[in-house]
This record gives sequence, C-alpha cells and structure tokens, in this order.
Amino acid sequence: MLIDFHSHFSSPDSVVCTADASAPDRDSALLGCTGLLPDKWTVQGQQQLFSVLERDPRLQMGEVGLDRRFESILPMDRQITILKQELEFAIHRERSISLHCVRATKPMVDILKELDFRPCSILWHGFTGSPETARELAKLNVILSIGPRFNGNIEAILQANPYTVPETDYEGSESLEHQKILESQYRRFPEDYQDQAEKVFCLFCHQ
Ligand SMILES: [Zn+2]
Repeated sequence: MLIDFHSHFSSPDSVVCTADASAPDRDSALLGCTGLLPDKWTVQGQQQLFSVLERDPRLQMGEVGLDRRFESILPMDRQITILKQELEFAIHRERSISLHCVRATKPMVDILKELDFRPCSILWHGFTGSPETARELAKLNVILSIGPRFNGNIEAILQANPYTVPETDYEGSESLEHQKILESQYRRFPEDYQDQAEKVFCLFCHQ
C-alpha cells in the first residue's frame, strides 16, 4: 500500500488532516487528524479543537503550525504561543502531530528543540527546507513529509533524515486523481520505498 502522509481527502491510504478544528472523516481514512491553522484561529476554534480531540482518543492533531503569510491576521509571536499550547495539549495526551510551516523554519525548529516528545510522533508536513535543516530535524526524530511542491533533491533530504516520506496534500474529492498524485510522489523516492514508508507510519501512529 502507498501511504499518503498528509491529505485533506479521506481514503483508506491517507492520513487525513483538517485545518479549521473540524473532525475529519476518520472512518474511511488510514488515520485521522484534526487541526487549526493561524488564518482560521479563534479562541472558540481552539476550544473546539481541544474538545474534538478529547472526545475521540483515536484522533491525532494536525495540521497546526506557523505561517508568515498570516502575520497580519495573527502576529508571529501569538502564533508561536498558540502553537506551543496546542503541542503541549497533544503531547500530554500522546497524540501524534502534523505540523504546517511556511517561512517560519527558525522559530519552528526552536520550538521543537524545547519540546519533550516521543520520537517520530511529530511530522513536518510539506517540508521544503534544506538538507541542513533536515539533518537538524533528524536529531530530534521529526518525520519529514514531502509534497508535490518540493522541488529540491529528495535523495539529499533522505540522506540527512531517513524519516522522510511522501504526501499529496490533496484537497479535492476525486479518488483517481488523488491516487495519481500519490503514485507520482512515490516515483520521486527510491524504488521499494513503500516498506520504509510503512515503517515510519507505524512509528508515527504508535503501532
Ligand atoms: Zn494540508
């Protein structure tokens, strides 16, 4: 099976995430996560995020994170404070976390360095950083997930961080289209990468 490590489309092979504190369609997905991004953040939204997670112990957290594009909506220092609250909540409840990070690599890495989390319980989705950053994150046992937008050298990232996996970040609703993107993402990885992806998935979801 080809596992999609970050998608907004519920399918038996995907880790499905939300960005607005809504619960995903977990039953038809491989793993369900509920999250909240800075542009959608409100006090009520955060309360909803926490209560959705409290109610369903099988739900993981994601996507949550930092996004420089939304600084006019929520300043970066607020985004950092909020993200720390969310991470603390998830870590205390032993939930895995899918992170979103746009133009905020330095503050994100700083936050991760301060955290005490289970190895491979945090996945950095849509990673577009350098091999140096990948190496730094490997030391923290953070999984890197590579989406269609990544145009760097995947081999170099894999060398720096063996916990690197493919994702589609698919937001549509067409099963065939999703499958096509997923297959093309796997083709960018070494042959037989499926096995490594399955191992990383087991680590990510405590199996
Ligand atoms: Zn996404």
